[in-house]
Amino acid sequence: MNNVMQTYARFPLTIVNGEGAYVFDNDGNKYLDFVAGIAVNTLGHGHPALVRAVSEQAASMLHCSNLYHIPKQIELAAKLTGLSGLDRAFFCNSGAEANEAAIKIARKYFHDAGSHRRTVITATHSFHGRLLTTLTATGQDKVKIGFDPLPPGFQHVPLNDLGALTDAVDENTAAVLLEPLQGEGGVNIADTEYLRGVRKLCDEHGILLMLDEVQTGIGRTGKMFAFEHAGIKPDVLTLAKGLGGGVPIGAMLASEKVAASFGPGSHGSTFGGNPLSCAAALAVLDTIEKEDLLNNVAEQSARIKIRLEVMVEKFSIAKAVRGSGLLLGLACSEAVAPIIEGCRSKGLLLLVAGPNVLRFLPALNIQADEVDQAMRILEEVFAVIEASGAGSEVTK
Ligand SMILES: *Cc1c(COP(=O)(O)O)cnc(C)c1O
Repeated sequence: MNNVMQTYARFPLTIVNGEGAYVFDNDGNKYLDFVAGIAVNTLGHGHPALVRAVSEQAASMLHCSNLYHIPKQIELAAKLTGLSGLDRAFFCNSGAEANEAAIKIARKYFHDAGSHRRTVITATHSFHGRLLTTLTATGQDKVKIGFDPLPPGFQHVPLNDLGALTDAVDENTAAVLLEPLQGEGGVNIADTEYLRGVRKLCDEHGILLMLDEVQTGIGRTGKMFAFEHAGIKPDVLTLAKGLGGGVPIGAMLASEKVAASFGPGSHGSTFGGNPLSCAAALAVLDTIEKEDLLNNVAEQSARIKIRLEVMVEKFSIAKAVRGSGLLLGLACSEAVAPIIEGCRSKGLLLLVAGPNVLRFLPALNIQADEVDQAMRILEEVFAVIEASGAGSEVTK
């Protein structure tokens, strides 16, 4: 038997290695990877710059503790604050930990100010992680079942409803925590006007705007951070998935006035910001710039969208294209599990975002011919499923 805990309903597939946009199973079968480790493998598999950075750092030193100054961590903090316009970075090892740090710093900030504001407002259908605080922050009941008592101090409002948020903000509100583009919750975009309105609302009440860019950050939407599309700046920003290109690392960035509340002893992480993960993140950021990957994201995104729009016209199951950059969704009229299964049997790995939405998350350096191959496979699978009577090939 397999002694791994059964927290995942895994696909019957064992992946043993990867090369660029492809992964290989234990029988040597090749798959085009449009999952990228759930938006983690920013540069695909085995990118020489990342391999070199990790190998060299491993040979030099893996770990030394945050009791000492760590040059690679200082360099990464400078890089990320320069890119985001925030002032300081705290490093951890995952998205949930980054959001936990954000929630803690928001509460500490108001504690230090002598205010009793403590509540964090998030959106319904959001996903913020699996720690007790972050699953409570998450706007989906399914992740909470069986884990009570849950920590108090969280409230949920519908996304893109500024009125509902305005009504929810009161004298206890410390922060609003949002994904600029919900990934797990169904590929739902927070509208530009909404985000601008939220920024203004937070400023009027003196509360913090915290953006969870664990999935959208590091170039995924075609800008380094998704908030740039709206022309706003958060007070706190969280990053993780794509930051290390596959090496675990999370980060919580904050403006100086907020960061002041995380003084010595207030928070910590044994592994957070270790030389290995920081070297990986530096190589990822450097490669995004050197290979002009933000432009590639925009180009390949447009290429995918055109093909998906055609499928929406052609197949009755395919309903709507959503998302931004290389975080795209195709909403369908029925459960997409058979489509994922069909694609896998033809050598394409795809992901869901809720039961009826297909999610496309290729590496940021995906090439046009690889996009074309993926779209061809998907179209073939749609055609087979529609022909089998699950839908009818009608024009809408
Ligand atoms: C994946 C994800 C998280 C959780 O990250 P982990 O590294 O799994 O803890 C949090 N927020 C968002 C938006 C995510 O997509």
